[in-house]
Amino acid sequence: LKIIKKPNKMQEISDNLHKKGKIGFVPTMGALHKGHLSLIEKAREENDFLILSIFVNPLQFGPSEDYERYPRPYKEDVKLAKGGGVDYLFYPSVSDLYPEKQETFVKMPEFEGILCGRNRPTHFQGVLTVVAKLFNITKPHNAYFGQKDYQQAIMIRKMTKDLNFDVNIKILPIIREGDGLAMSSRNIYLSKEERGKASVLYQSLLKGKRLLEKGGDREEIISLMKGMIEREGFEIDYIEILDKETLKEGKTLIALAARIGKTRLIDNIII
Ligand code: AMP
Repeated sequence: LKIIKKPNKMQEISDNLHKKGKIGFVPTMGALHKGHLSLIEKAREENDFLILSIFVNPLQFGPSEDYERYPRPYKEDVKLAKGGGVDYLFYPSVSDLYPEKQETFVKMPEFEGILCGRNRPTHFQGVLTVVAKLFNITKPHNAYFGQKDYQQAIMIRKMTKDLNFDVNIKILPIIREGDGLAMSSRNIYLSKEERGKASVLYQSLLKGKRLLEKGGDREEIISLMKGMIEREGFEIDYIEILDKETLKEGKTLIALAARIGKTRLIDNIII
């Protein structure tokens, strides 16, 4: 495992690798867990070279969000990266990646106004902009994302098409804890009591899916799911039933976000 901090150094290496074989790229914010490791494993299988990036991107956090307290367990992450067969860990500092004030942004207004974008107005332009930069730095053939952040994955796939990035976007299934809670670096924020209640999110998605498949009414299903989740002390950010490709009206995806205490969790299921 080689650890690279400077974008121009990484670019030079990627340029070389790109000519020799297939580059797989897994972008993350670190605090690696089995969800990240599933992407790393798949990327390892499908490519000759594997680049992992760890960067807690300030551009995608709102002013009252958890940028400062986001976990940064560097040593453990390096160990996991090594164990996963990562060849290069791209690990820039904020000033490495944003040496000047960023003036160029990738925006997708229609997608930014829905689901997670509604309560996080600058989140997705931050995500798309950093992913565009990371693609230009790591020059991957294949890039791996989790279905866990479903809206993000769909928007990145759309950006890649719209801007002709020469990268295949692979979206892999959600890895869950034993009780169904989707793995997330943010789960460590949960108190023991909150953690106990958090499995209701997946339970409600399973219930919603069953009812939807039986032809149930959209509004009734959403309200039933809301009830289940609120009873456990969560505050609902959104629950929506949409088309999984367009994120517009449809019945092939249920997505939700909810808060408990100081923690916001998201999850989704494909029908
Ligand atoms: P993050 O470090 O949270 O920005 O996530 C980096 C990548 O890992 C994103 O593509 C996520 O969708 C993916 N990911 C996070 N959690 C999971 C999970 N539980 N299962 C699968 N992929 C995940």
